[in-house]
Amino acid sequence: MVLEVPVLIARKRDGGELTGDEVRALVGAYVAGDVADAQMAALLMAGVIRGFSDEEATALTEAYIASGDVVDLSDLTGPTVDKHSTGGVGDSTTLVVAPLLAALGCQVAKLSGRGLGHTGGTLDKLEAVPGYRVDLSRDELHAQVERIGLAVAAATADLVPADKRIYALRDVTATVADEALIAASVMSKKIAGGAGHVVLDVKCGDGAFMRTEPEATALARRCVAVGAGHGRRVTAVVTDMGQPLGPAIGNALEVAAAVEVLQGAGDTWLREGCLVLAAEGLALTGVDRTEARRRAEVALDDGSALERFGAWIEAQGGDPAVGDDPWSVLERAPVVRRWQPPDGTVRGLRTQRLGELAGRLGAGRQRPGDDVDPAVGLVVPLQVGAAVDAPVEVHARSEQDADQVVAELADLVDVGEPVEQRPLVLSTVREGDPGVGS
Ligand code: URA
Repeated sequence: MVLEVPVLIARKRDGGELTGDEVRALVGAYVAGDVADAQMAALLMAGVIRGFSDEEATALTEAYIASGDVVDLSDLTGPTVDKHSTGGVGDSTTLVVAPLLAALGCQVAKLSGRGLGHTGGTLDKLEAVPGYRVDLSRDELHAQVERIGLAVAAATADLVPADKRIYALRDVTATVADEALIAASVMSKKIAGGAGHVVLDVKCGDGAFMRTEPEATALARRCVAVGAGHGRRVTAVVTDMGQPLGPAIGNALEVAAAVEVLQGAGDTWLREGCLVLAAEGLALTGVDRTEARRRAEVALDDGSALERFGAWIEAQGGDPAVGDDPWSVLERAPVVRRWQPPDGTVRGLRTQRLGELAGRLGAGRQRPGDDVDPAVGLVVPLQVGAAVDAPVEVHARSEQDADQVVAELADLVDVGEPVEQRPLVLSTVREGDPGVGS
């Protein structure tokens, strides 16, 4: 097929549609280096403005999957469950949900990425634990999952290479926040990752790509449908990102917050998020939902999830003492500054900006390839609808960095008359729900 790329771009620009064959050929040619970045970026932007059809979105997902290897987990003995978040602030749920699912008898072979935006990704958080090794071979990953129920490793270059290239382009051309593009990106990685069951956390609000509930729900429906079309059972939970999910934003700080939850304590909002995701993941494997929730609570409270966490960290070269006493292992920032909000009820938090400030302190990357600083970040022990009862903490490398961040905090925290607390879960989309096609 001769690919007339400028013609395809013009058709999309003018509101037309590409055929499935054209989408697949275009992605293949881009990965092979036969389509320029500028052409792909123009096409993506035209699609974001005009919208992608269902057929284009499906073809995009298929082209992404076809660009690399598909992991075969069929020889694992337990039900395989994967978990993915569309990206939030203070979101350390993987560190809790993965060992929790393992404690519940699931097998979690999770391939993760580094953060591209303001805050660190799961691998950055795990690497805050000295010695933790993210580069596992396929054989090592399999063997570890079979032995202890979980492994979280870096996605190799051959897992959906088209998404790696196209995501990097989207990240710098303002074309990330699009339902079809996110669904193709997320679901191709989950399908190629090999798990039979997938629980998705689709974030909604100020700190998320999807700002409104209808947009987030549409993305959730599309992901569930794509999964069903590829024989995967998927549940997507739409959760509020109008405030950070956990109190900590920053790599070591988030590890410590996750450990507190694994110890049966910790932030109630983060704990709830972890319980919801783990229970939905377990329910996908055939366990009744109420029973799944009960078992997840027990495994958090009786220490069995914490025990899996220790085994996992140790298996990947980290110091398992992080599960008993995180700060005996994790690096602390040299400067810790406290900022006390005025008395009153928290009415709102500018989540995205809080994430960006943690990024500016060094917890995330300003450019791809930058190193992240494991120790720095923010602790924001505030929840919308609750009274202010503790200061915000700024963990910084230098006094100057701390000063700059403290100077902005007052604009990011709105305190005043009482408002309602927000629900964490806005909706849950499951296969077979009305409006979920396949
Ligand atoms: N997370 C992903 O993996 N891909 C996207 O496109 C957005 C969030």
